Amino acid sequence: MTSYSDTQLFIDGRWRDGSKPRLPVLNPATEETIGTLAHAGKADLDEALAAAQRGFEVWRKVGALERSKLIRRAAELLRERAETVATLMTLEQGKPLVESRGETAGAADTIEWFAEEARRTYGRIVPARAVSVTQMVVKEPVGVAAAFTPWNFPLNQAVRKVSAALAAGCSVILKGPEETPASCAALIGAFADAGIPAGVVNLVFGIPAEISSYLIPHPVIKKISFTGSTVVGKQLAAMAGSHMKRVTMELGGHAPALVFDDADVAQAVKILAANKFRNAGQVCVAPTRFLVQEKVYQQFLDGFVQAAEDLQVGNGMDKGVRMGPLANNRRIDAMESMVADAKSHGAKVATGGERIGNRGYFFKPTVLTDVPLSARMMTEEPFGPVAMINRFSDYDEVVTEANRLPYGLAAYAYTTSAKTMAGLGRDIESGMVSINHHGIALPELPFGGIKDSGYGSEGGIEAVEAYLNTKLVTQTI
Ligand code: NAD
Repeated sequence: MTSYSDTQLFIDGRWRDGSKPRLPVLNPATEETIGTLAHAGKADLDEALAAAQRGFEVWRKVGALERSKLIRRAAELLRERAETVATLMTLEQGKPLVESRGETAGAADTIEWFAEEARRTYGRIVPARAVSVTQMVVKEPVGVAAAFTPWNFPLNQAVRKVSAALAAGCSVILKGPEETPASCAALIGAFADAGIPAGVVNLVFGIPAEISSYLIPHPVIKKISFTGSTVVGKQLAAMAGSHMKRVTMELGGHAPALVFDDADVAQAVKILAANKFRNAGQVCVAPTRFLVQEKVYQQFLDGFVQAAEDLQVGNGMDKGVRMGPLANNRRIDAMESMVADAKSHGAKVATGGERIGNRGYFFKPTVLTDVPLSARMMTEEPFGPVAMINRFSDYDEVVTEANRLPYGLAAYAYTTSAKTMAGLGRDIESGMVSINHHGIALPELPFGGIKDSGYGSEGGIEAVEAYLNTKLVTQTI
């Protein structure tokens, strides 16, 4: 049985304490303190910046094949350590062990994919107007990147940024999630032990606002990537903009899930319920606004309520548990106040709607119906195990509702009509549209939003592009 470990900072190839006092880490299933976390102060950040600058000078000169091999080795190490890493994740984050295992395996796949891409940061030759001229478009790493990642997927959010940065030849300072630090540190440990040179990957924890306001304006940092809420993302993007830094923002979402009369309803229930309650709904791409056409509304609702009631909720370490606690008490407060607000606006509770017990941050898988647009939850991202299921009558009405919010991250639809599929692919304002299956978040696919959900991509070739500068070299002999 893996025991929880205290987490350190990783700076210049060395695990070490921070200059600020350690802070406790809680298990959200028991509310017990299970370990402590090193906190970085300014002196630690200065060391990380200097190390990352030196690391960049070394890493950019490592050949593409060698870079690829070293990154790939991290994937192998992560796979070897998967059971330990998954256990740490469940202890600190709460999600069922089966989900932690899936996230760890997925992180290894992501590293591997980016390792391959490290060999393909192609430029191009543009035919010239004069035969004596050669025009080369060259891709170069942007430099030192600062990455900020949250607690909902301690590995998955970090691995996309770190792997893409390394593939491009950048070094990185990752500010990991303070509430779920040990599994994220284990990920960085895999990169470190793979033989990636000192200073190329650095990990810090601390007070998020202190760290971002120090790193983002710092001249050493050339690229910022943040995953978290839209509110914070806008602040960080503004700060980065005032220092002309390149930015990737992966922010909140409020994904519509459209189920049409002609859909395979049983399949829609199965896939959408699984993805609604995965990670207790604390997923930026979780389906949240369920919009079901009139004829199949009751069938969908009955099936979905049954799926919610069948879920075994409990400590993620226990066998058979399919939904763990929420990751922190802020989510319990948010769920309670959002459900109360929806009820006060006339929403009906079809199942759930309340906390389970008073120890551990457990909340019932919840289904609300007839939720009016005036309810906060129809506008604010719920980020918890609550599904709002409403009816619609025709295509134009449902597309208008799907596009109503400033968010535009993921959208889902179930229909057997090719015409409807084509229409949705064109009409839905969203970074990702998945029809008749849950087909997003694979390493080889772009992953990102539009509108208030951010910009840039954290998957596919676009993710590496985000860490590359384009340089033109034109010469004549
Ligand atoms: P929060 O907004 O305080 O924090 C969200 C994340 O941003 C955390 O990782 C936090 O460390 C980081 N953060 C906050 N302020 C920061 C700053 N000034 N500089 C750098 N990083 C900063 O809220 P929370 O209670 O942790 O989560 C609540 C909301 O955040 C959720 O409702 C959800 O909308 C959003 N969230 C989104 C994701 C995602 O995957 N997009 C993940 C976690 C949280």
